[in-house]
Amino acid sequence: VLDHLSKTYRDKSGNETVALDDINFSVNEEEFVAIVGPSGCGKSTLLSIVAGLSDATTGSVYFDGVLEGRSPRIGIVFQEHALFPWRTIQKNVEFGLEQIGIGKKERTARAREWLRKVGLQGFEDKYPHQLSGGMRQRVGIARALVIEPDLLLMDEPLSALDAQVRLIMQDELLRLWQSVRQKTLYVTHNIDEAVALADRVVVLSRRPGRIVKVIPIDIPREAR
Ligand code: ADP
Ligand code: ADP
Repeated sequence: VLDHLSKTYRDKSGNETVALDDINFSVNEEEFVAIVGPSGCGKSTLLSIVAGLSDATTGSVYFDGVLEGRSPRIGIVFQEHALFPWRTIQKNVEFGLEQIGIGKKERTARAREWLRKVGLQGFEDKYPHQLSGGMRQRVGIARALVIEPDLLLMDEPLSALDAQVRLIMQDELLRLWQSVRQKTLYVTHNIDEAVALADRVVVLSRRPGRIVKVIPIDIPREAR
């Protein structure tokens, strides 16, 4: 739940930029919410606040009624995959599990299972540079989901891909999400992508970032 969230940046000479102004909405269990808006509307700012990577100027983020602390487990998929280049695909996916203290044997099994789910069986021992852009994003998605997060955050995960790969990945993401139904907050500047994937689309205005519209998408996923 984002409750009256605002963010104002101040530079050294005292100039202020209102990046987000009074943002209120929530993401329900098993819901996929997409945030869309033009460049500069505050999408990245919003994600970084929800991820706990930066602070709001005013307002709060709640998880299950609790003020955000370090308690929720959040899986993040970045625009640029942000994989460790010196680690194999398998080790990249295991990384998050290592951070939360999962033992070697279970790590290996769970990472393999997720790599299979995203269609990368057989690529476990490759390195990121040996994979295509689309495949690297699939690794990023597996790495975020393998930790069974309370919330999945995706920051323009398809935007760096070329158009054809993007459409294929969009379809894969739709099917994958149907099988996990993981509470998701997805940021994109691409309205088609938002409508194709989400249950609800939150539209932000350019400056300051305000919610101008919340659009429910009533097309069943099976029909998309
Ligand atoms: P988006 O992700 O939608 O492109 P951002 O969240 O990156 O938007 O930026 C929202 C607004 O806040 C923009 O006007 C941007 O210039 C400003 N902004 C973002 N980060 C900073 C920062 N660290 N310092 C000052 N202004 C910033
Ligand atoms: P381990 O398998 O022991 O966990 P990591 O792969 O996490 O090892 O690497 C340990 C540290 O070494 C990393 O935190 C990173 O800072 C650094 N490192 C290792 N290889 C590279 C590399 N190719 N480029 C940049 N940093 C590296």
